[in-house]
Formats: sequence, C-alpha cells, structure tokens
Amino acid sequence: MELILLGPPGAGKGTQSKLLETRYGVAQISTGDMLRAEVKAGSPIGLEAKSIMDAGKLVSDDILIRMIGERIHRPDCAKGFILDGFPRTVPQAEALDKLLHETAVDLDAVIELKVDEAVLVERISGRFTCAKCGTGYHDTFKRPQREGVCDVCGGTEFIRRPDDKAETVHARLEAYNAQTAPILPYYRAQGRLHVVDGMADMADVEAEIEAVLRKIGIPPAVS
Ligand code: ADP
Ligand code: ADP
Ligand code: ZN
Repeated sequence: MELILLGPPGAGKGTQSKLLETRYGVAQISTGDMLRAEVKAGSPIGLEAKSIMDAGKLVSDDILIRMIGERIHRPDCAKGFILDGFPRTVPQAEALDKLLHETAVDLDAVIELKVDEAVLVERISGRFTCAKCGTGYHDTFKRPQREGVCDVCGGTEFIRRPDDKAETVHARLEAYNAQTAPILPYYRAQGRLHVVDGMADMADVEAEIEAVLRKIGIPPAVS
C-alpha cells in the first residue's frame, strides 16, 4: 500500500500514520522526523534546515525530494509506505509521481485530514512525545495512562518541539495554506483524493480511514 496523509500541522497525520503502520504492515515515513534527526545529528542538511524549521517555513524542495527518493527504496518499504508530511508543495508532488513511475509503483490514495484552525492551534500547543520511542501525546486529549510514564515503552522523558510555540504555529499554518493546500486539487484531478473528518476522536478517525481503504480494496494486514 502506498498512501499519503495530507493535512495542516496538528491534523493528526503522525498519530494516524503510526496506527496505520501497525495495522497495514507498511513503513511510516515522516519527513518532519527525518529532518529533526538530521538537525540532532548536526549534518549539513540539519544545519541548513534548523533555522527554517524554527521559523515555521518549508525546507527546500531539492533537499526533501532527495531524502524521499532515497528513503522509499529502503527494505522496510517493501510492502509499501505511508507518507506523513510529504509532499508539501506541488513540485514535491510532481517529483513523487516521477519517482513512483520509475519504480513502477502506484499511489493508492491521498487522505486529507480536515480540522478547523482553532482546534489545530490547541492540538499543537498541547503536543508532546516520548523521547525514547516517539509515541505522541497531548496535554488534554491523550495523556499517558500513568502520569509521566510512556504507555508504549515505559520511558519517563518527554519532549516538546521548539516549533510548537504559538508564535511559530501561525507561520506554519500560513505555509500550509499557501504552499501545501494547492496539492489538493492536483490529487483530486487524479481521482485519488479522499477527505476524512479529522475533528472526530482518534479512534473514529482511524475507523474512517480504514473504511476509505477498504472501499478501494485494501484490507488491514492485522485485525
Ligand atoms: P507538522 O507536524 O506540523 O505537520 P512536520 O513534523 O511534518 O510538522 O514538519 C516540521 C517542519 O519540518 C515543517 O514545518 C518544515 O519546516 C519541515 N518539513 C517537513 N516536511 C517537509 C516537506 N515535505 N517540505 C518542506 N519542509 C518540510
Ligand atoms: P500532525 O502529525 O498532523 O502534526 P499529530 O498526530 O502530531 O499531528 O497530532 C497533533 C496533536 O493532537 C498530538 O498531541 C495528538 O496527540 C493530538 N491529536 C491527534 N489526533 C487527535 C484527535 N483526533 N483528537 C484529539 N487530539 C488529537
Ligand atoms: Zn515511549
């Protein structure tokens, strides 16, 4: 299965793609996570990306297209992948089509998670993740079952992203509206776009995505 999850920052792409990764046995590819790893490693890409990410702007298409071109050929993508955070511009979408065409792989669907802007701000400001395993949480909507302990790995250290501050969120939403939203008509014209209500509870969003996938002939690998 080759799937794209599209939506503004805070829409639930990371949350849902992690759930889908397990259920469908495919790799989750988060370009945000990949870039944050480059920043942490202090690599040339990371050094270039850091100030751009901190400002809530988009890193260059060249860098992202090169990163994805390499990433989708790794062994964990043998059964497919879910793209979370890529493509984010029309040139990225066009480059992805070219990459997939060269590999004779067909994109199954693009799922847009629709969420109102006020809710996005609330979601982003309350977001934190486990430092050890990356599981996502929220101050109000998804606290760990045991305070201060990760449900998945038992880790006790959590991190908040520097770009999840209120000041930067606005710039990120603007970048989404100006540069990423124009991808929607691109995929609609291909007949691949499916819209899912991202305002619902996490489990309901998951069920709705599964219903879309079933309808196009893709059942989960694990029930
Ligand atoms: P979000 O959770 O807000 O959707 P991500 O973790 O996907 O954010 O991305 C964080 C930041 O990384 C973005 O604001 C942007 O600076 C950079 N980034 C991630 N993916 C891309 C991409 N495909 N193109 C350009 N920049 C990207
Ligand atoms: P994205 O990857 O699109 O930026 P995330 O999956 O990181 O978004 O979700 C943003 C925040 O909102 C996280 O703290 C997450 O726990 C929370 N969240 C995700 N989906 C929902 C939902 N359906 N209802 C309430 N909160 C949610
Ligand atoms: Zn954990």
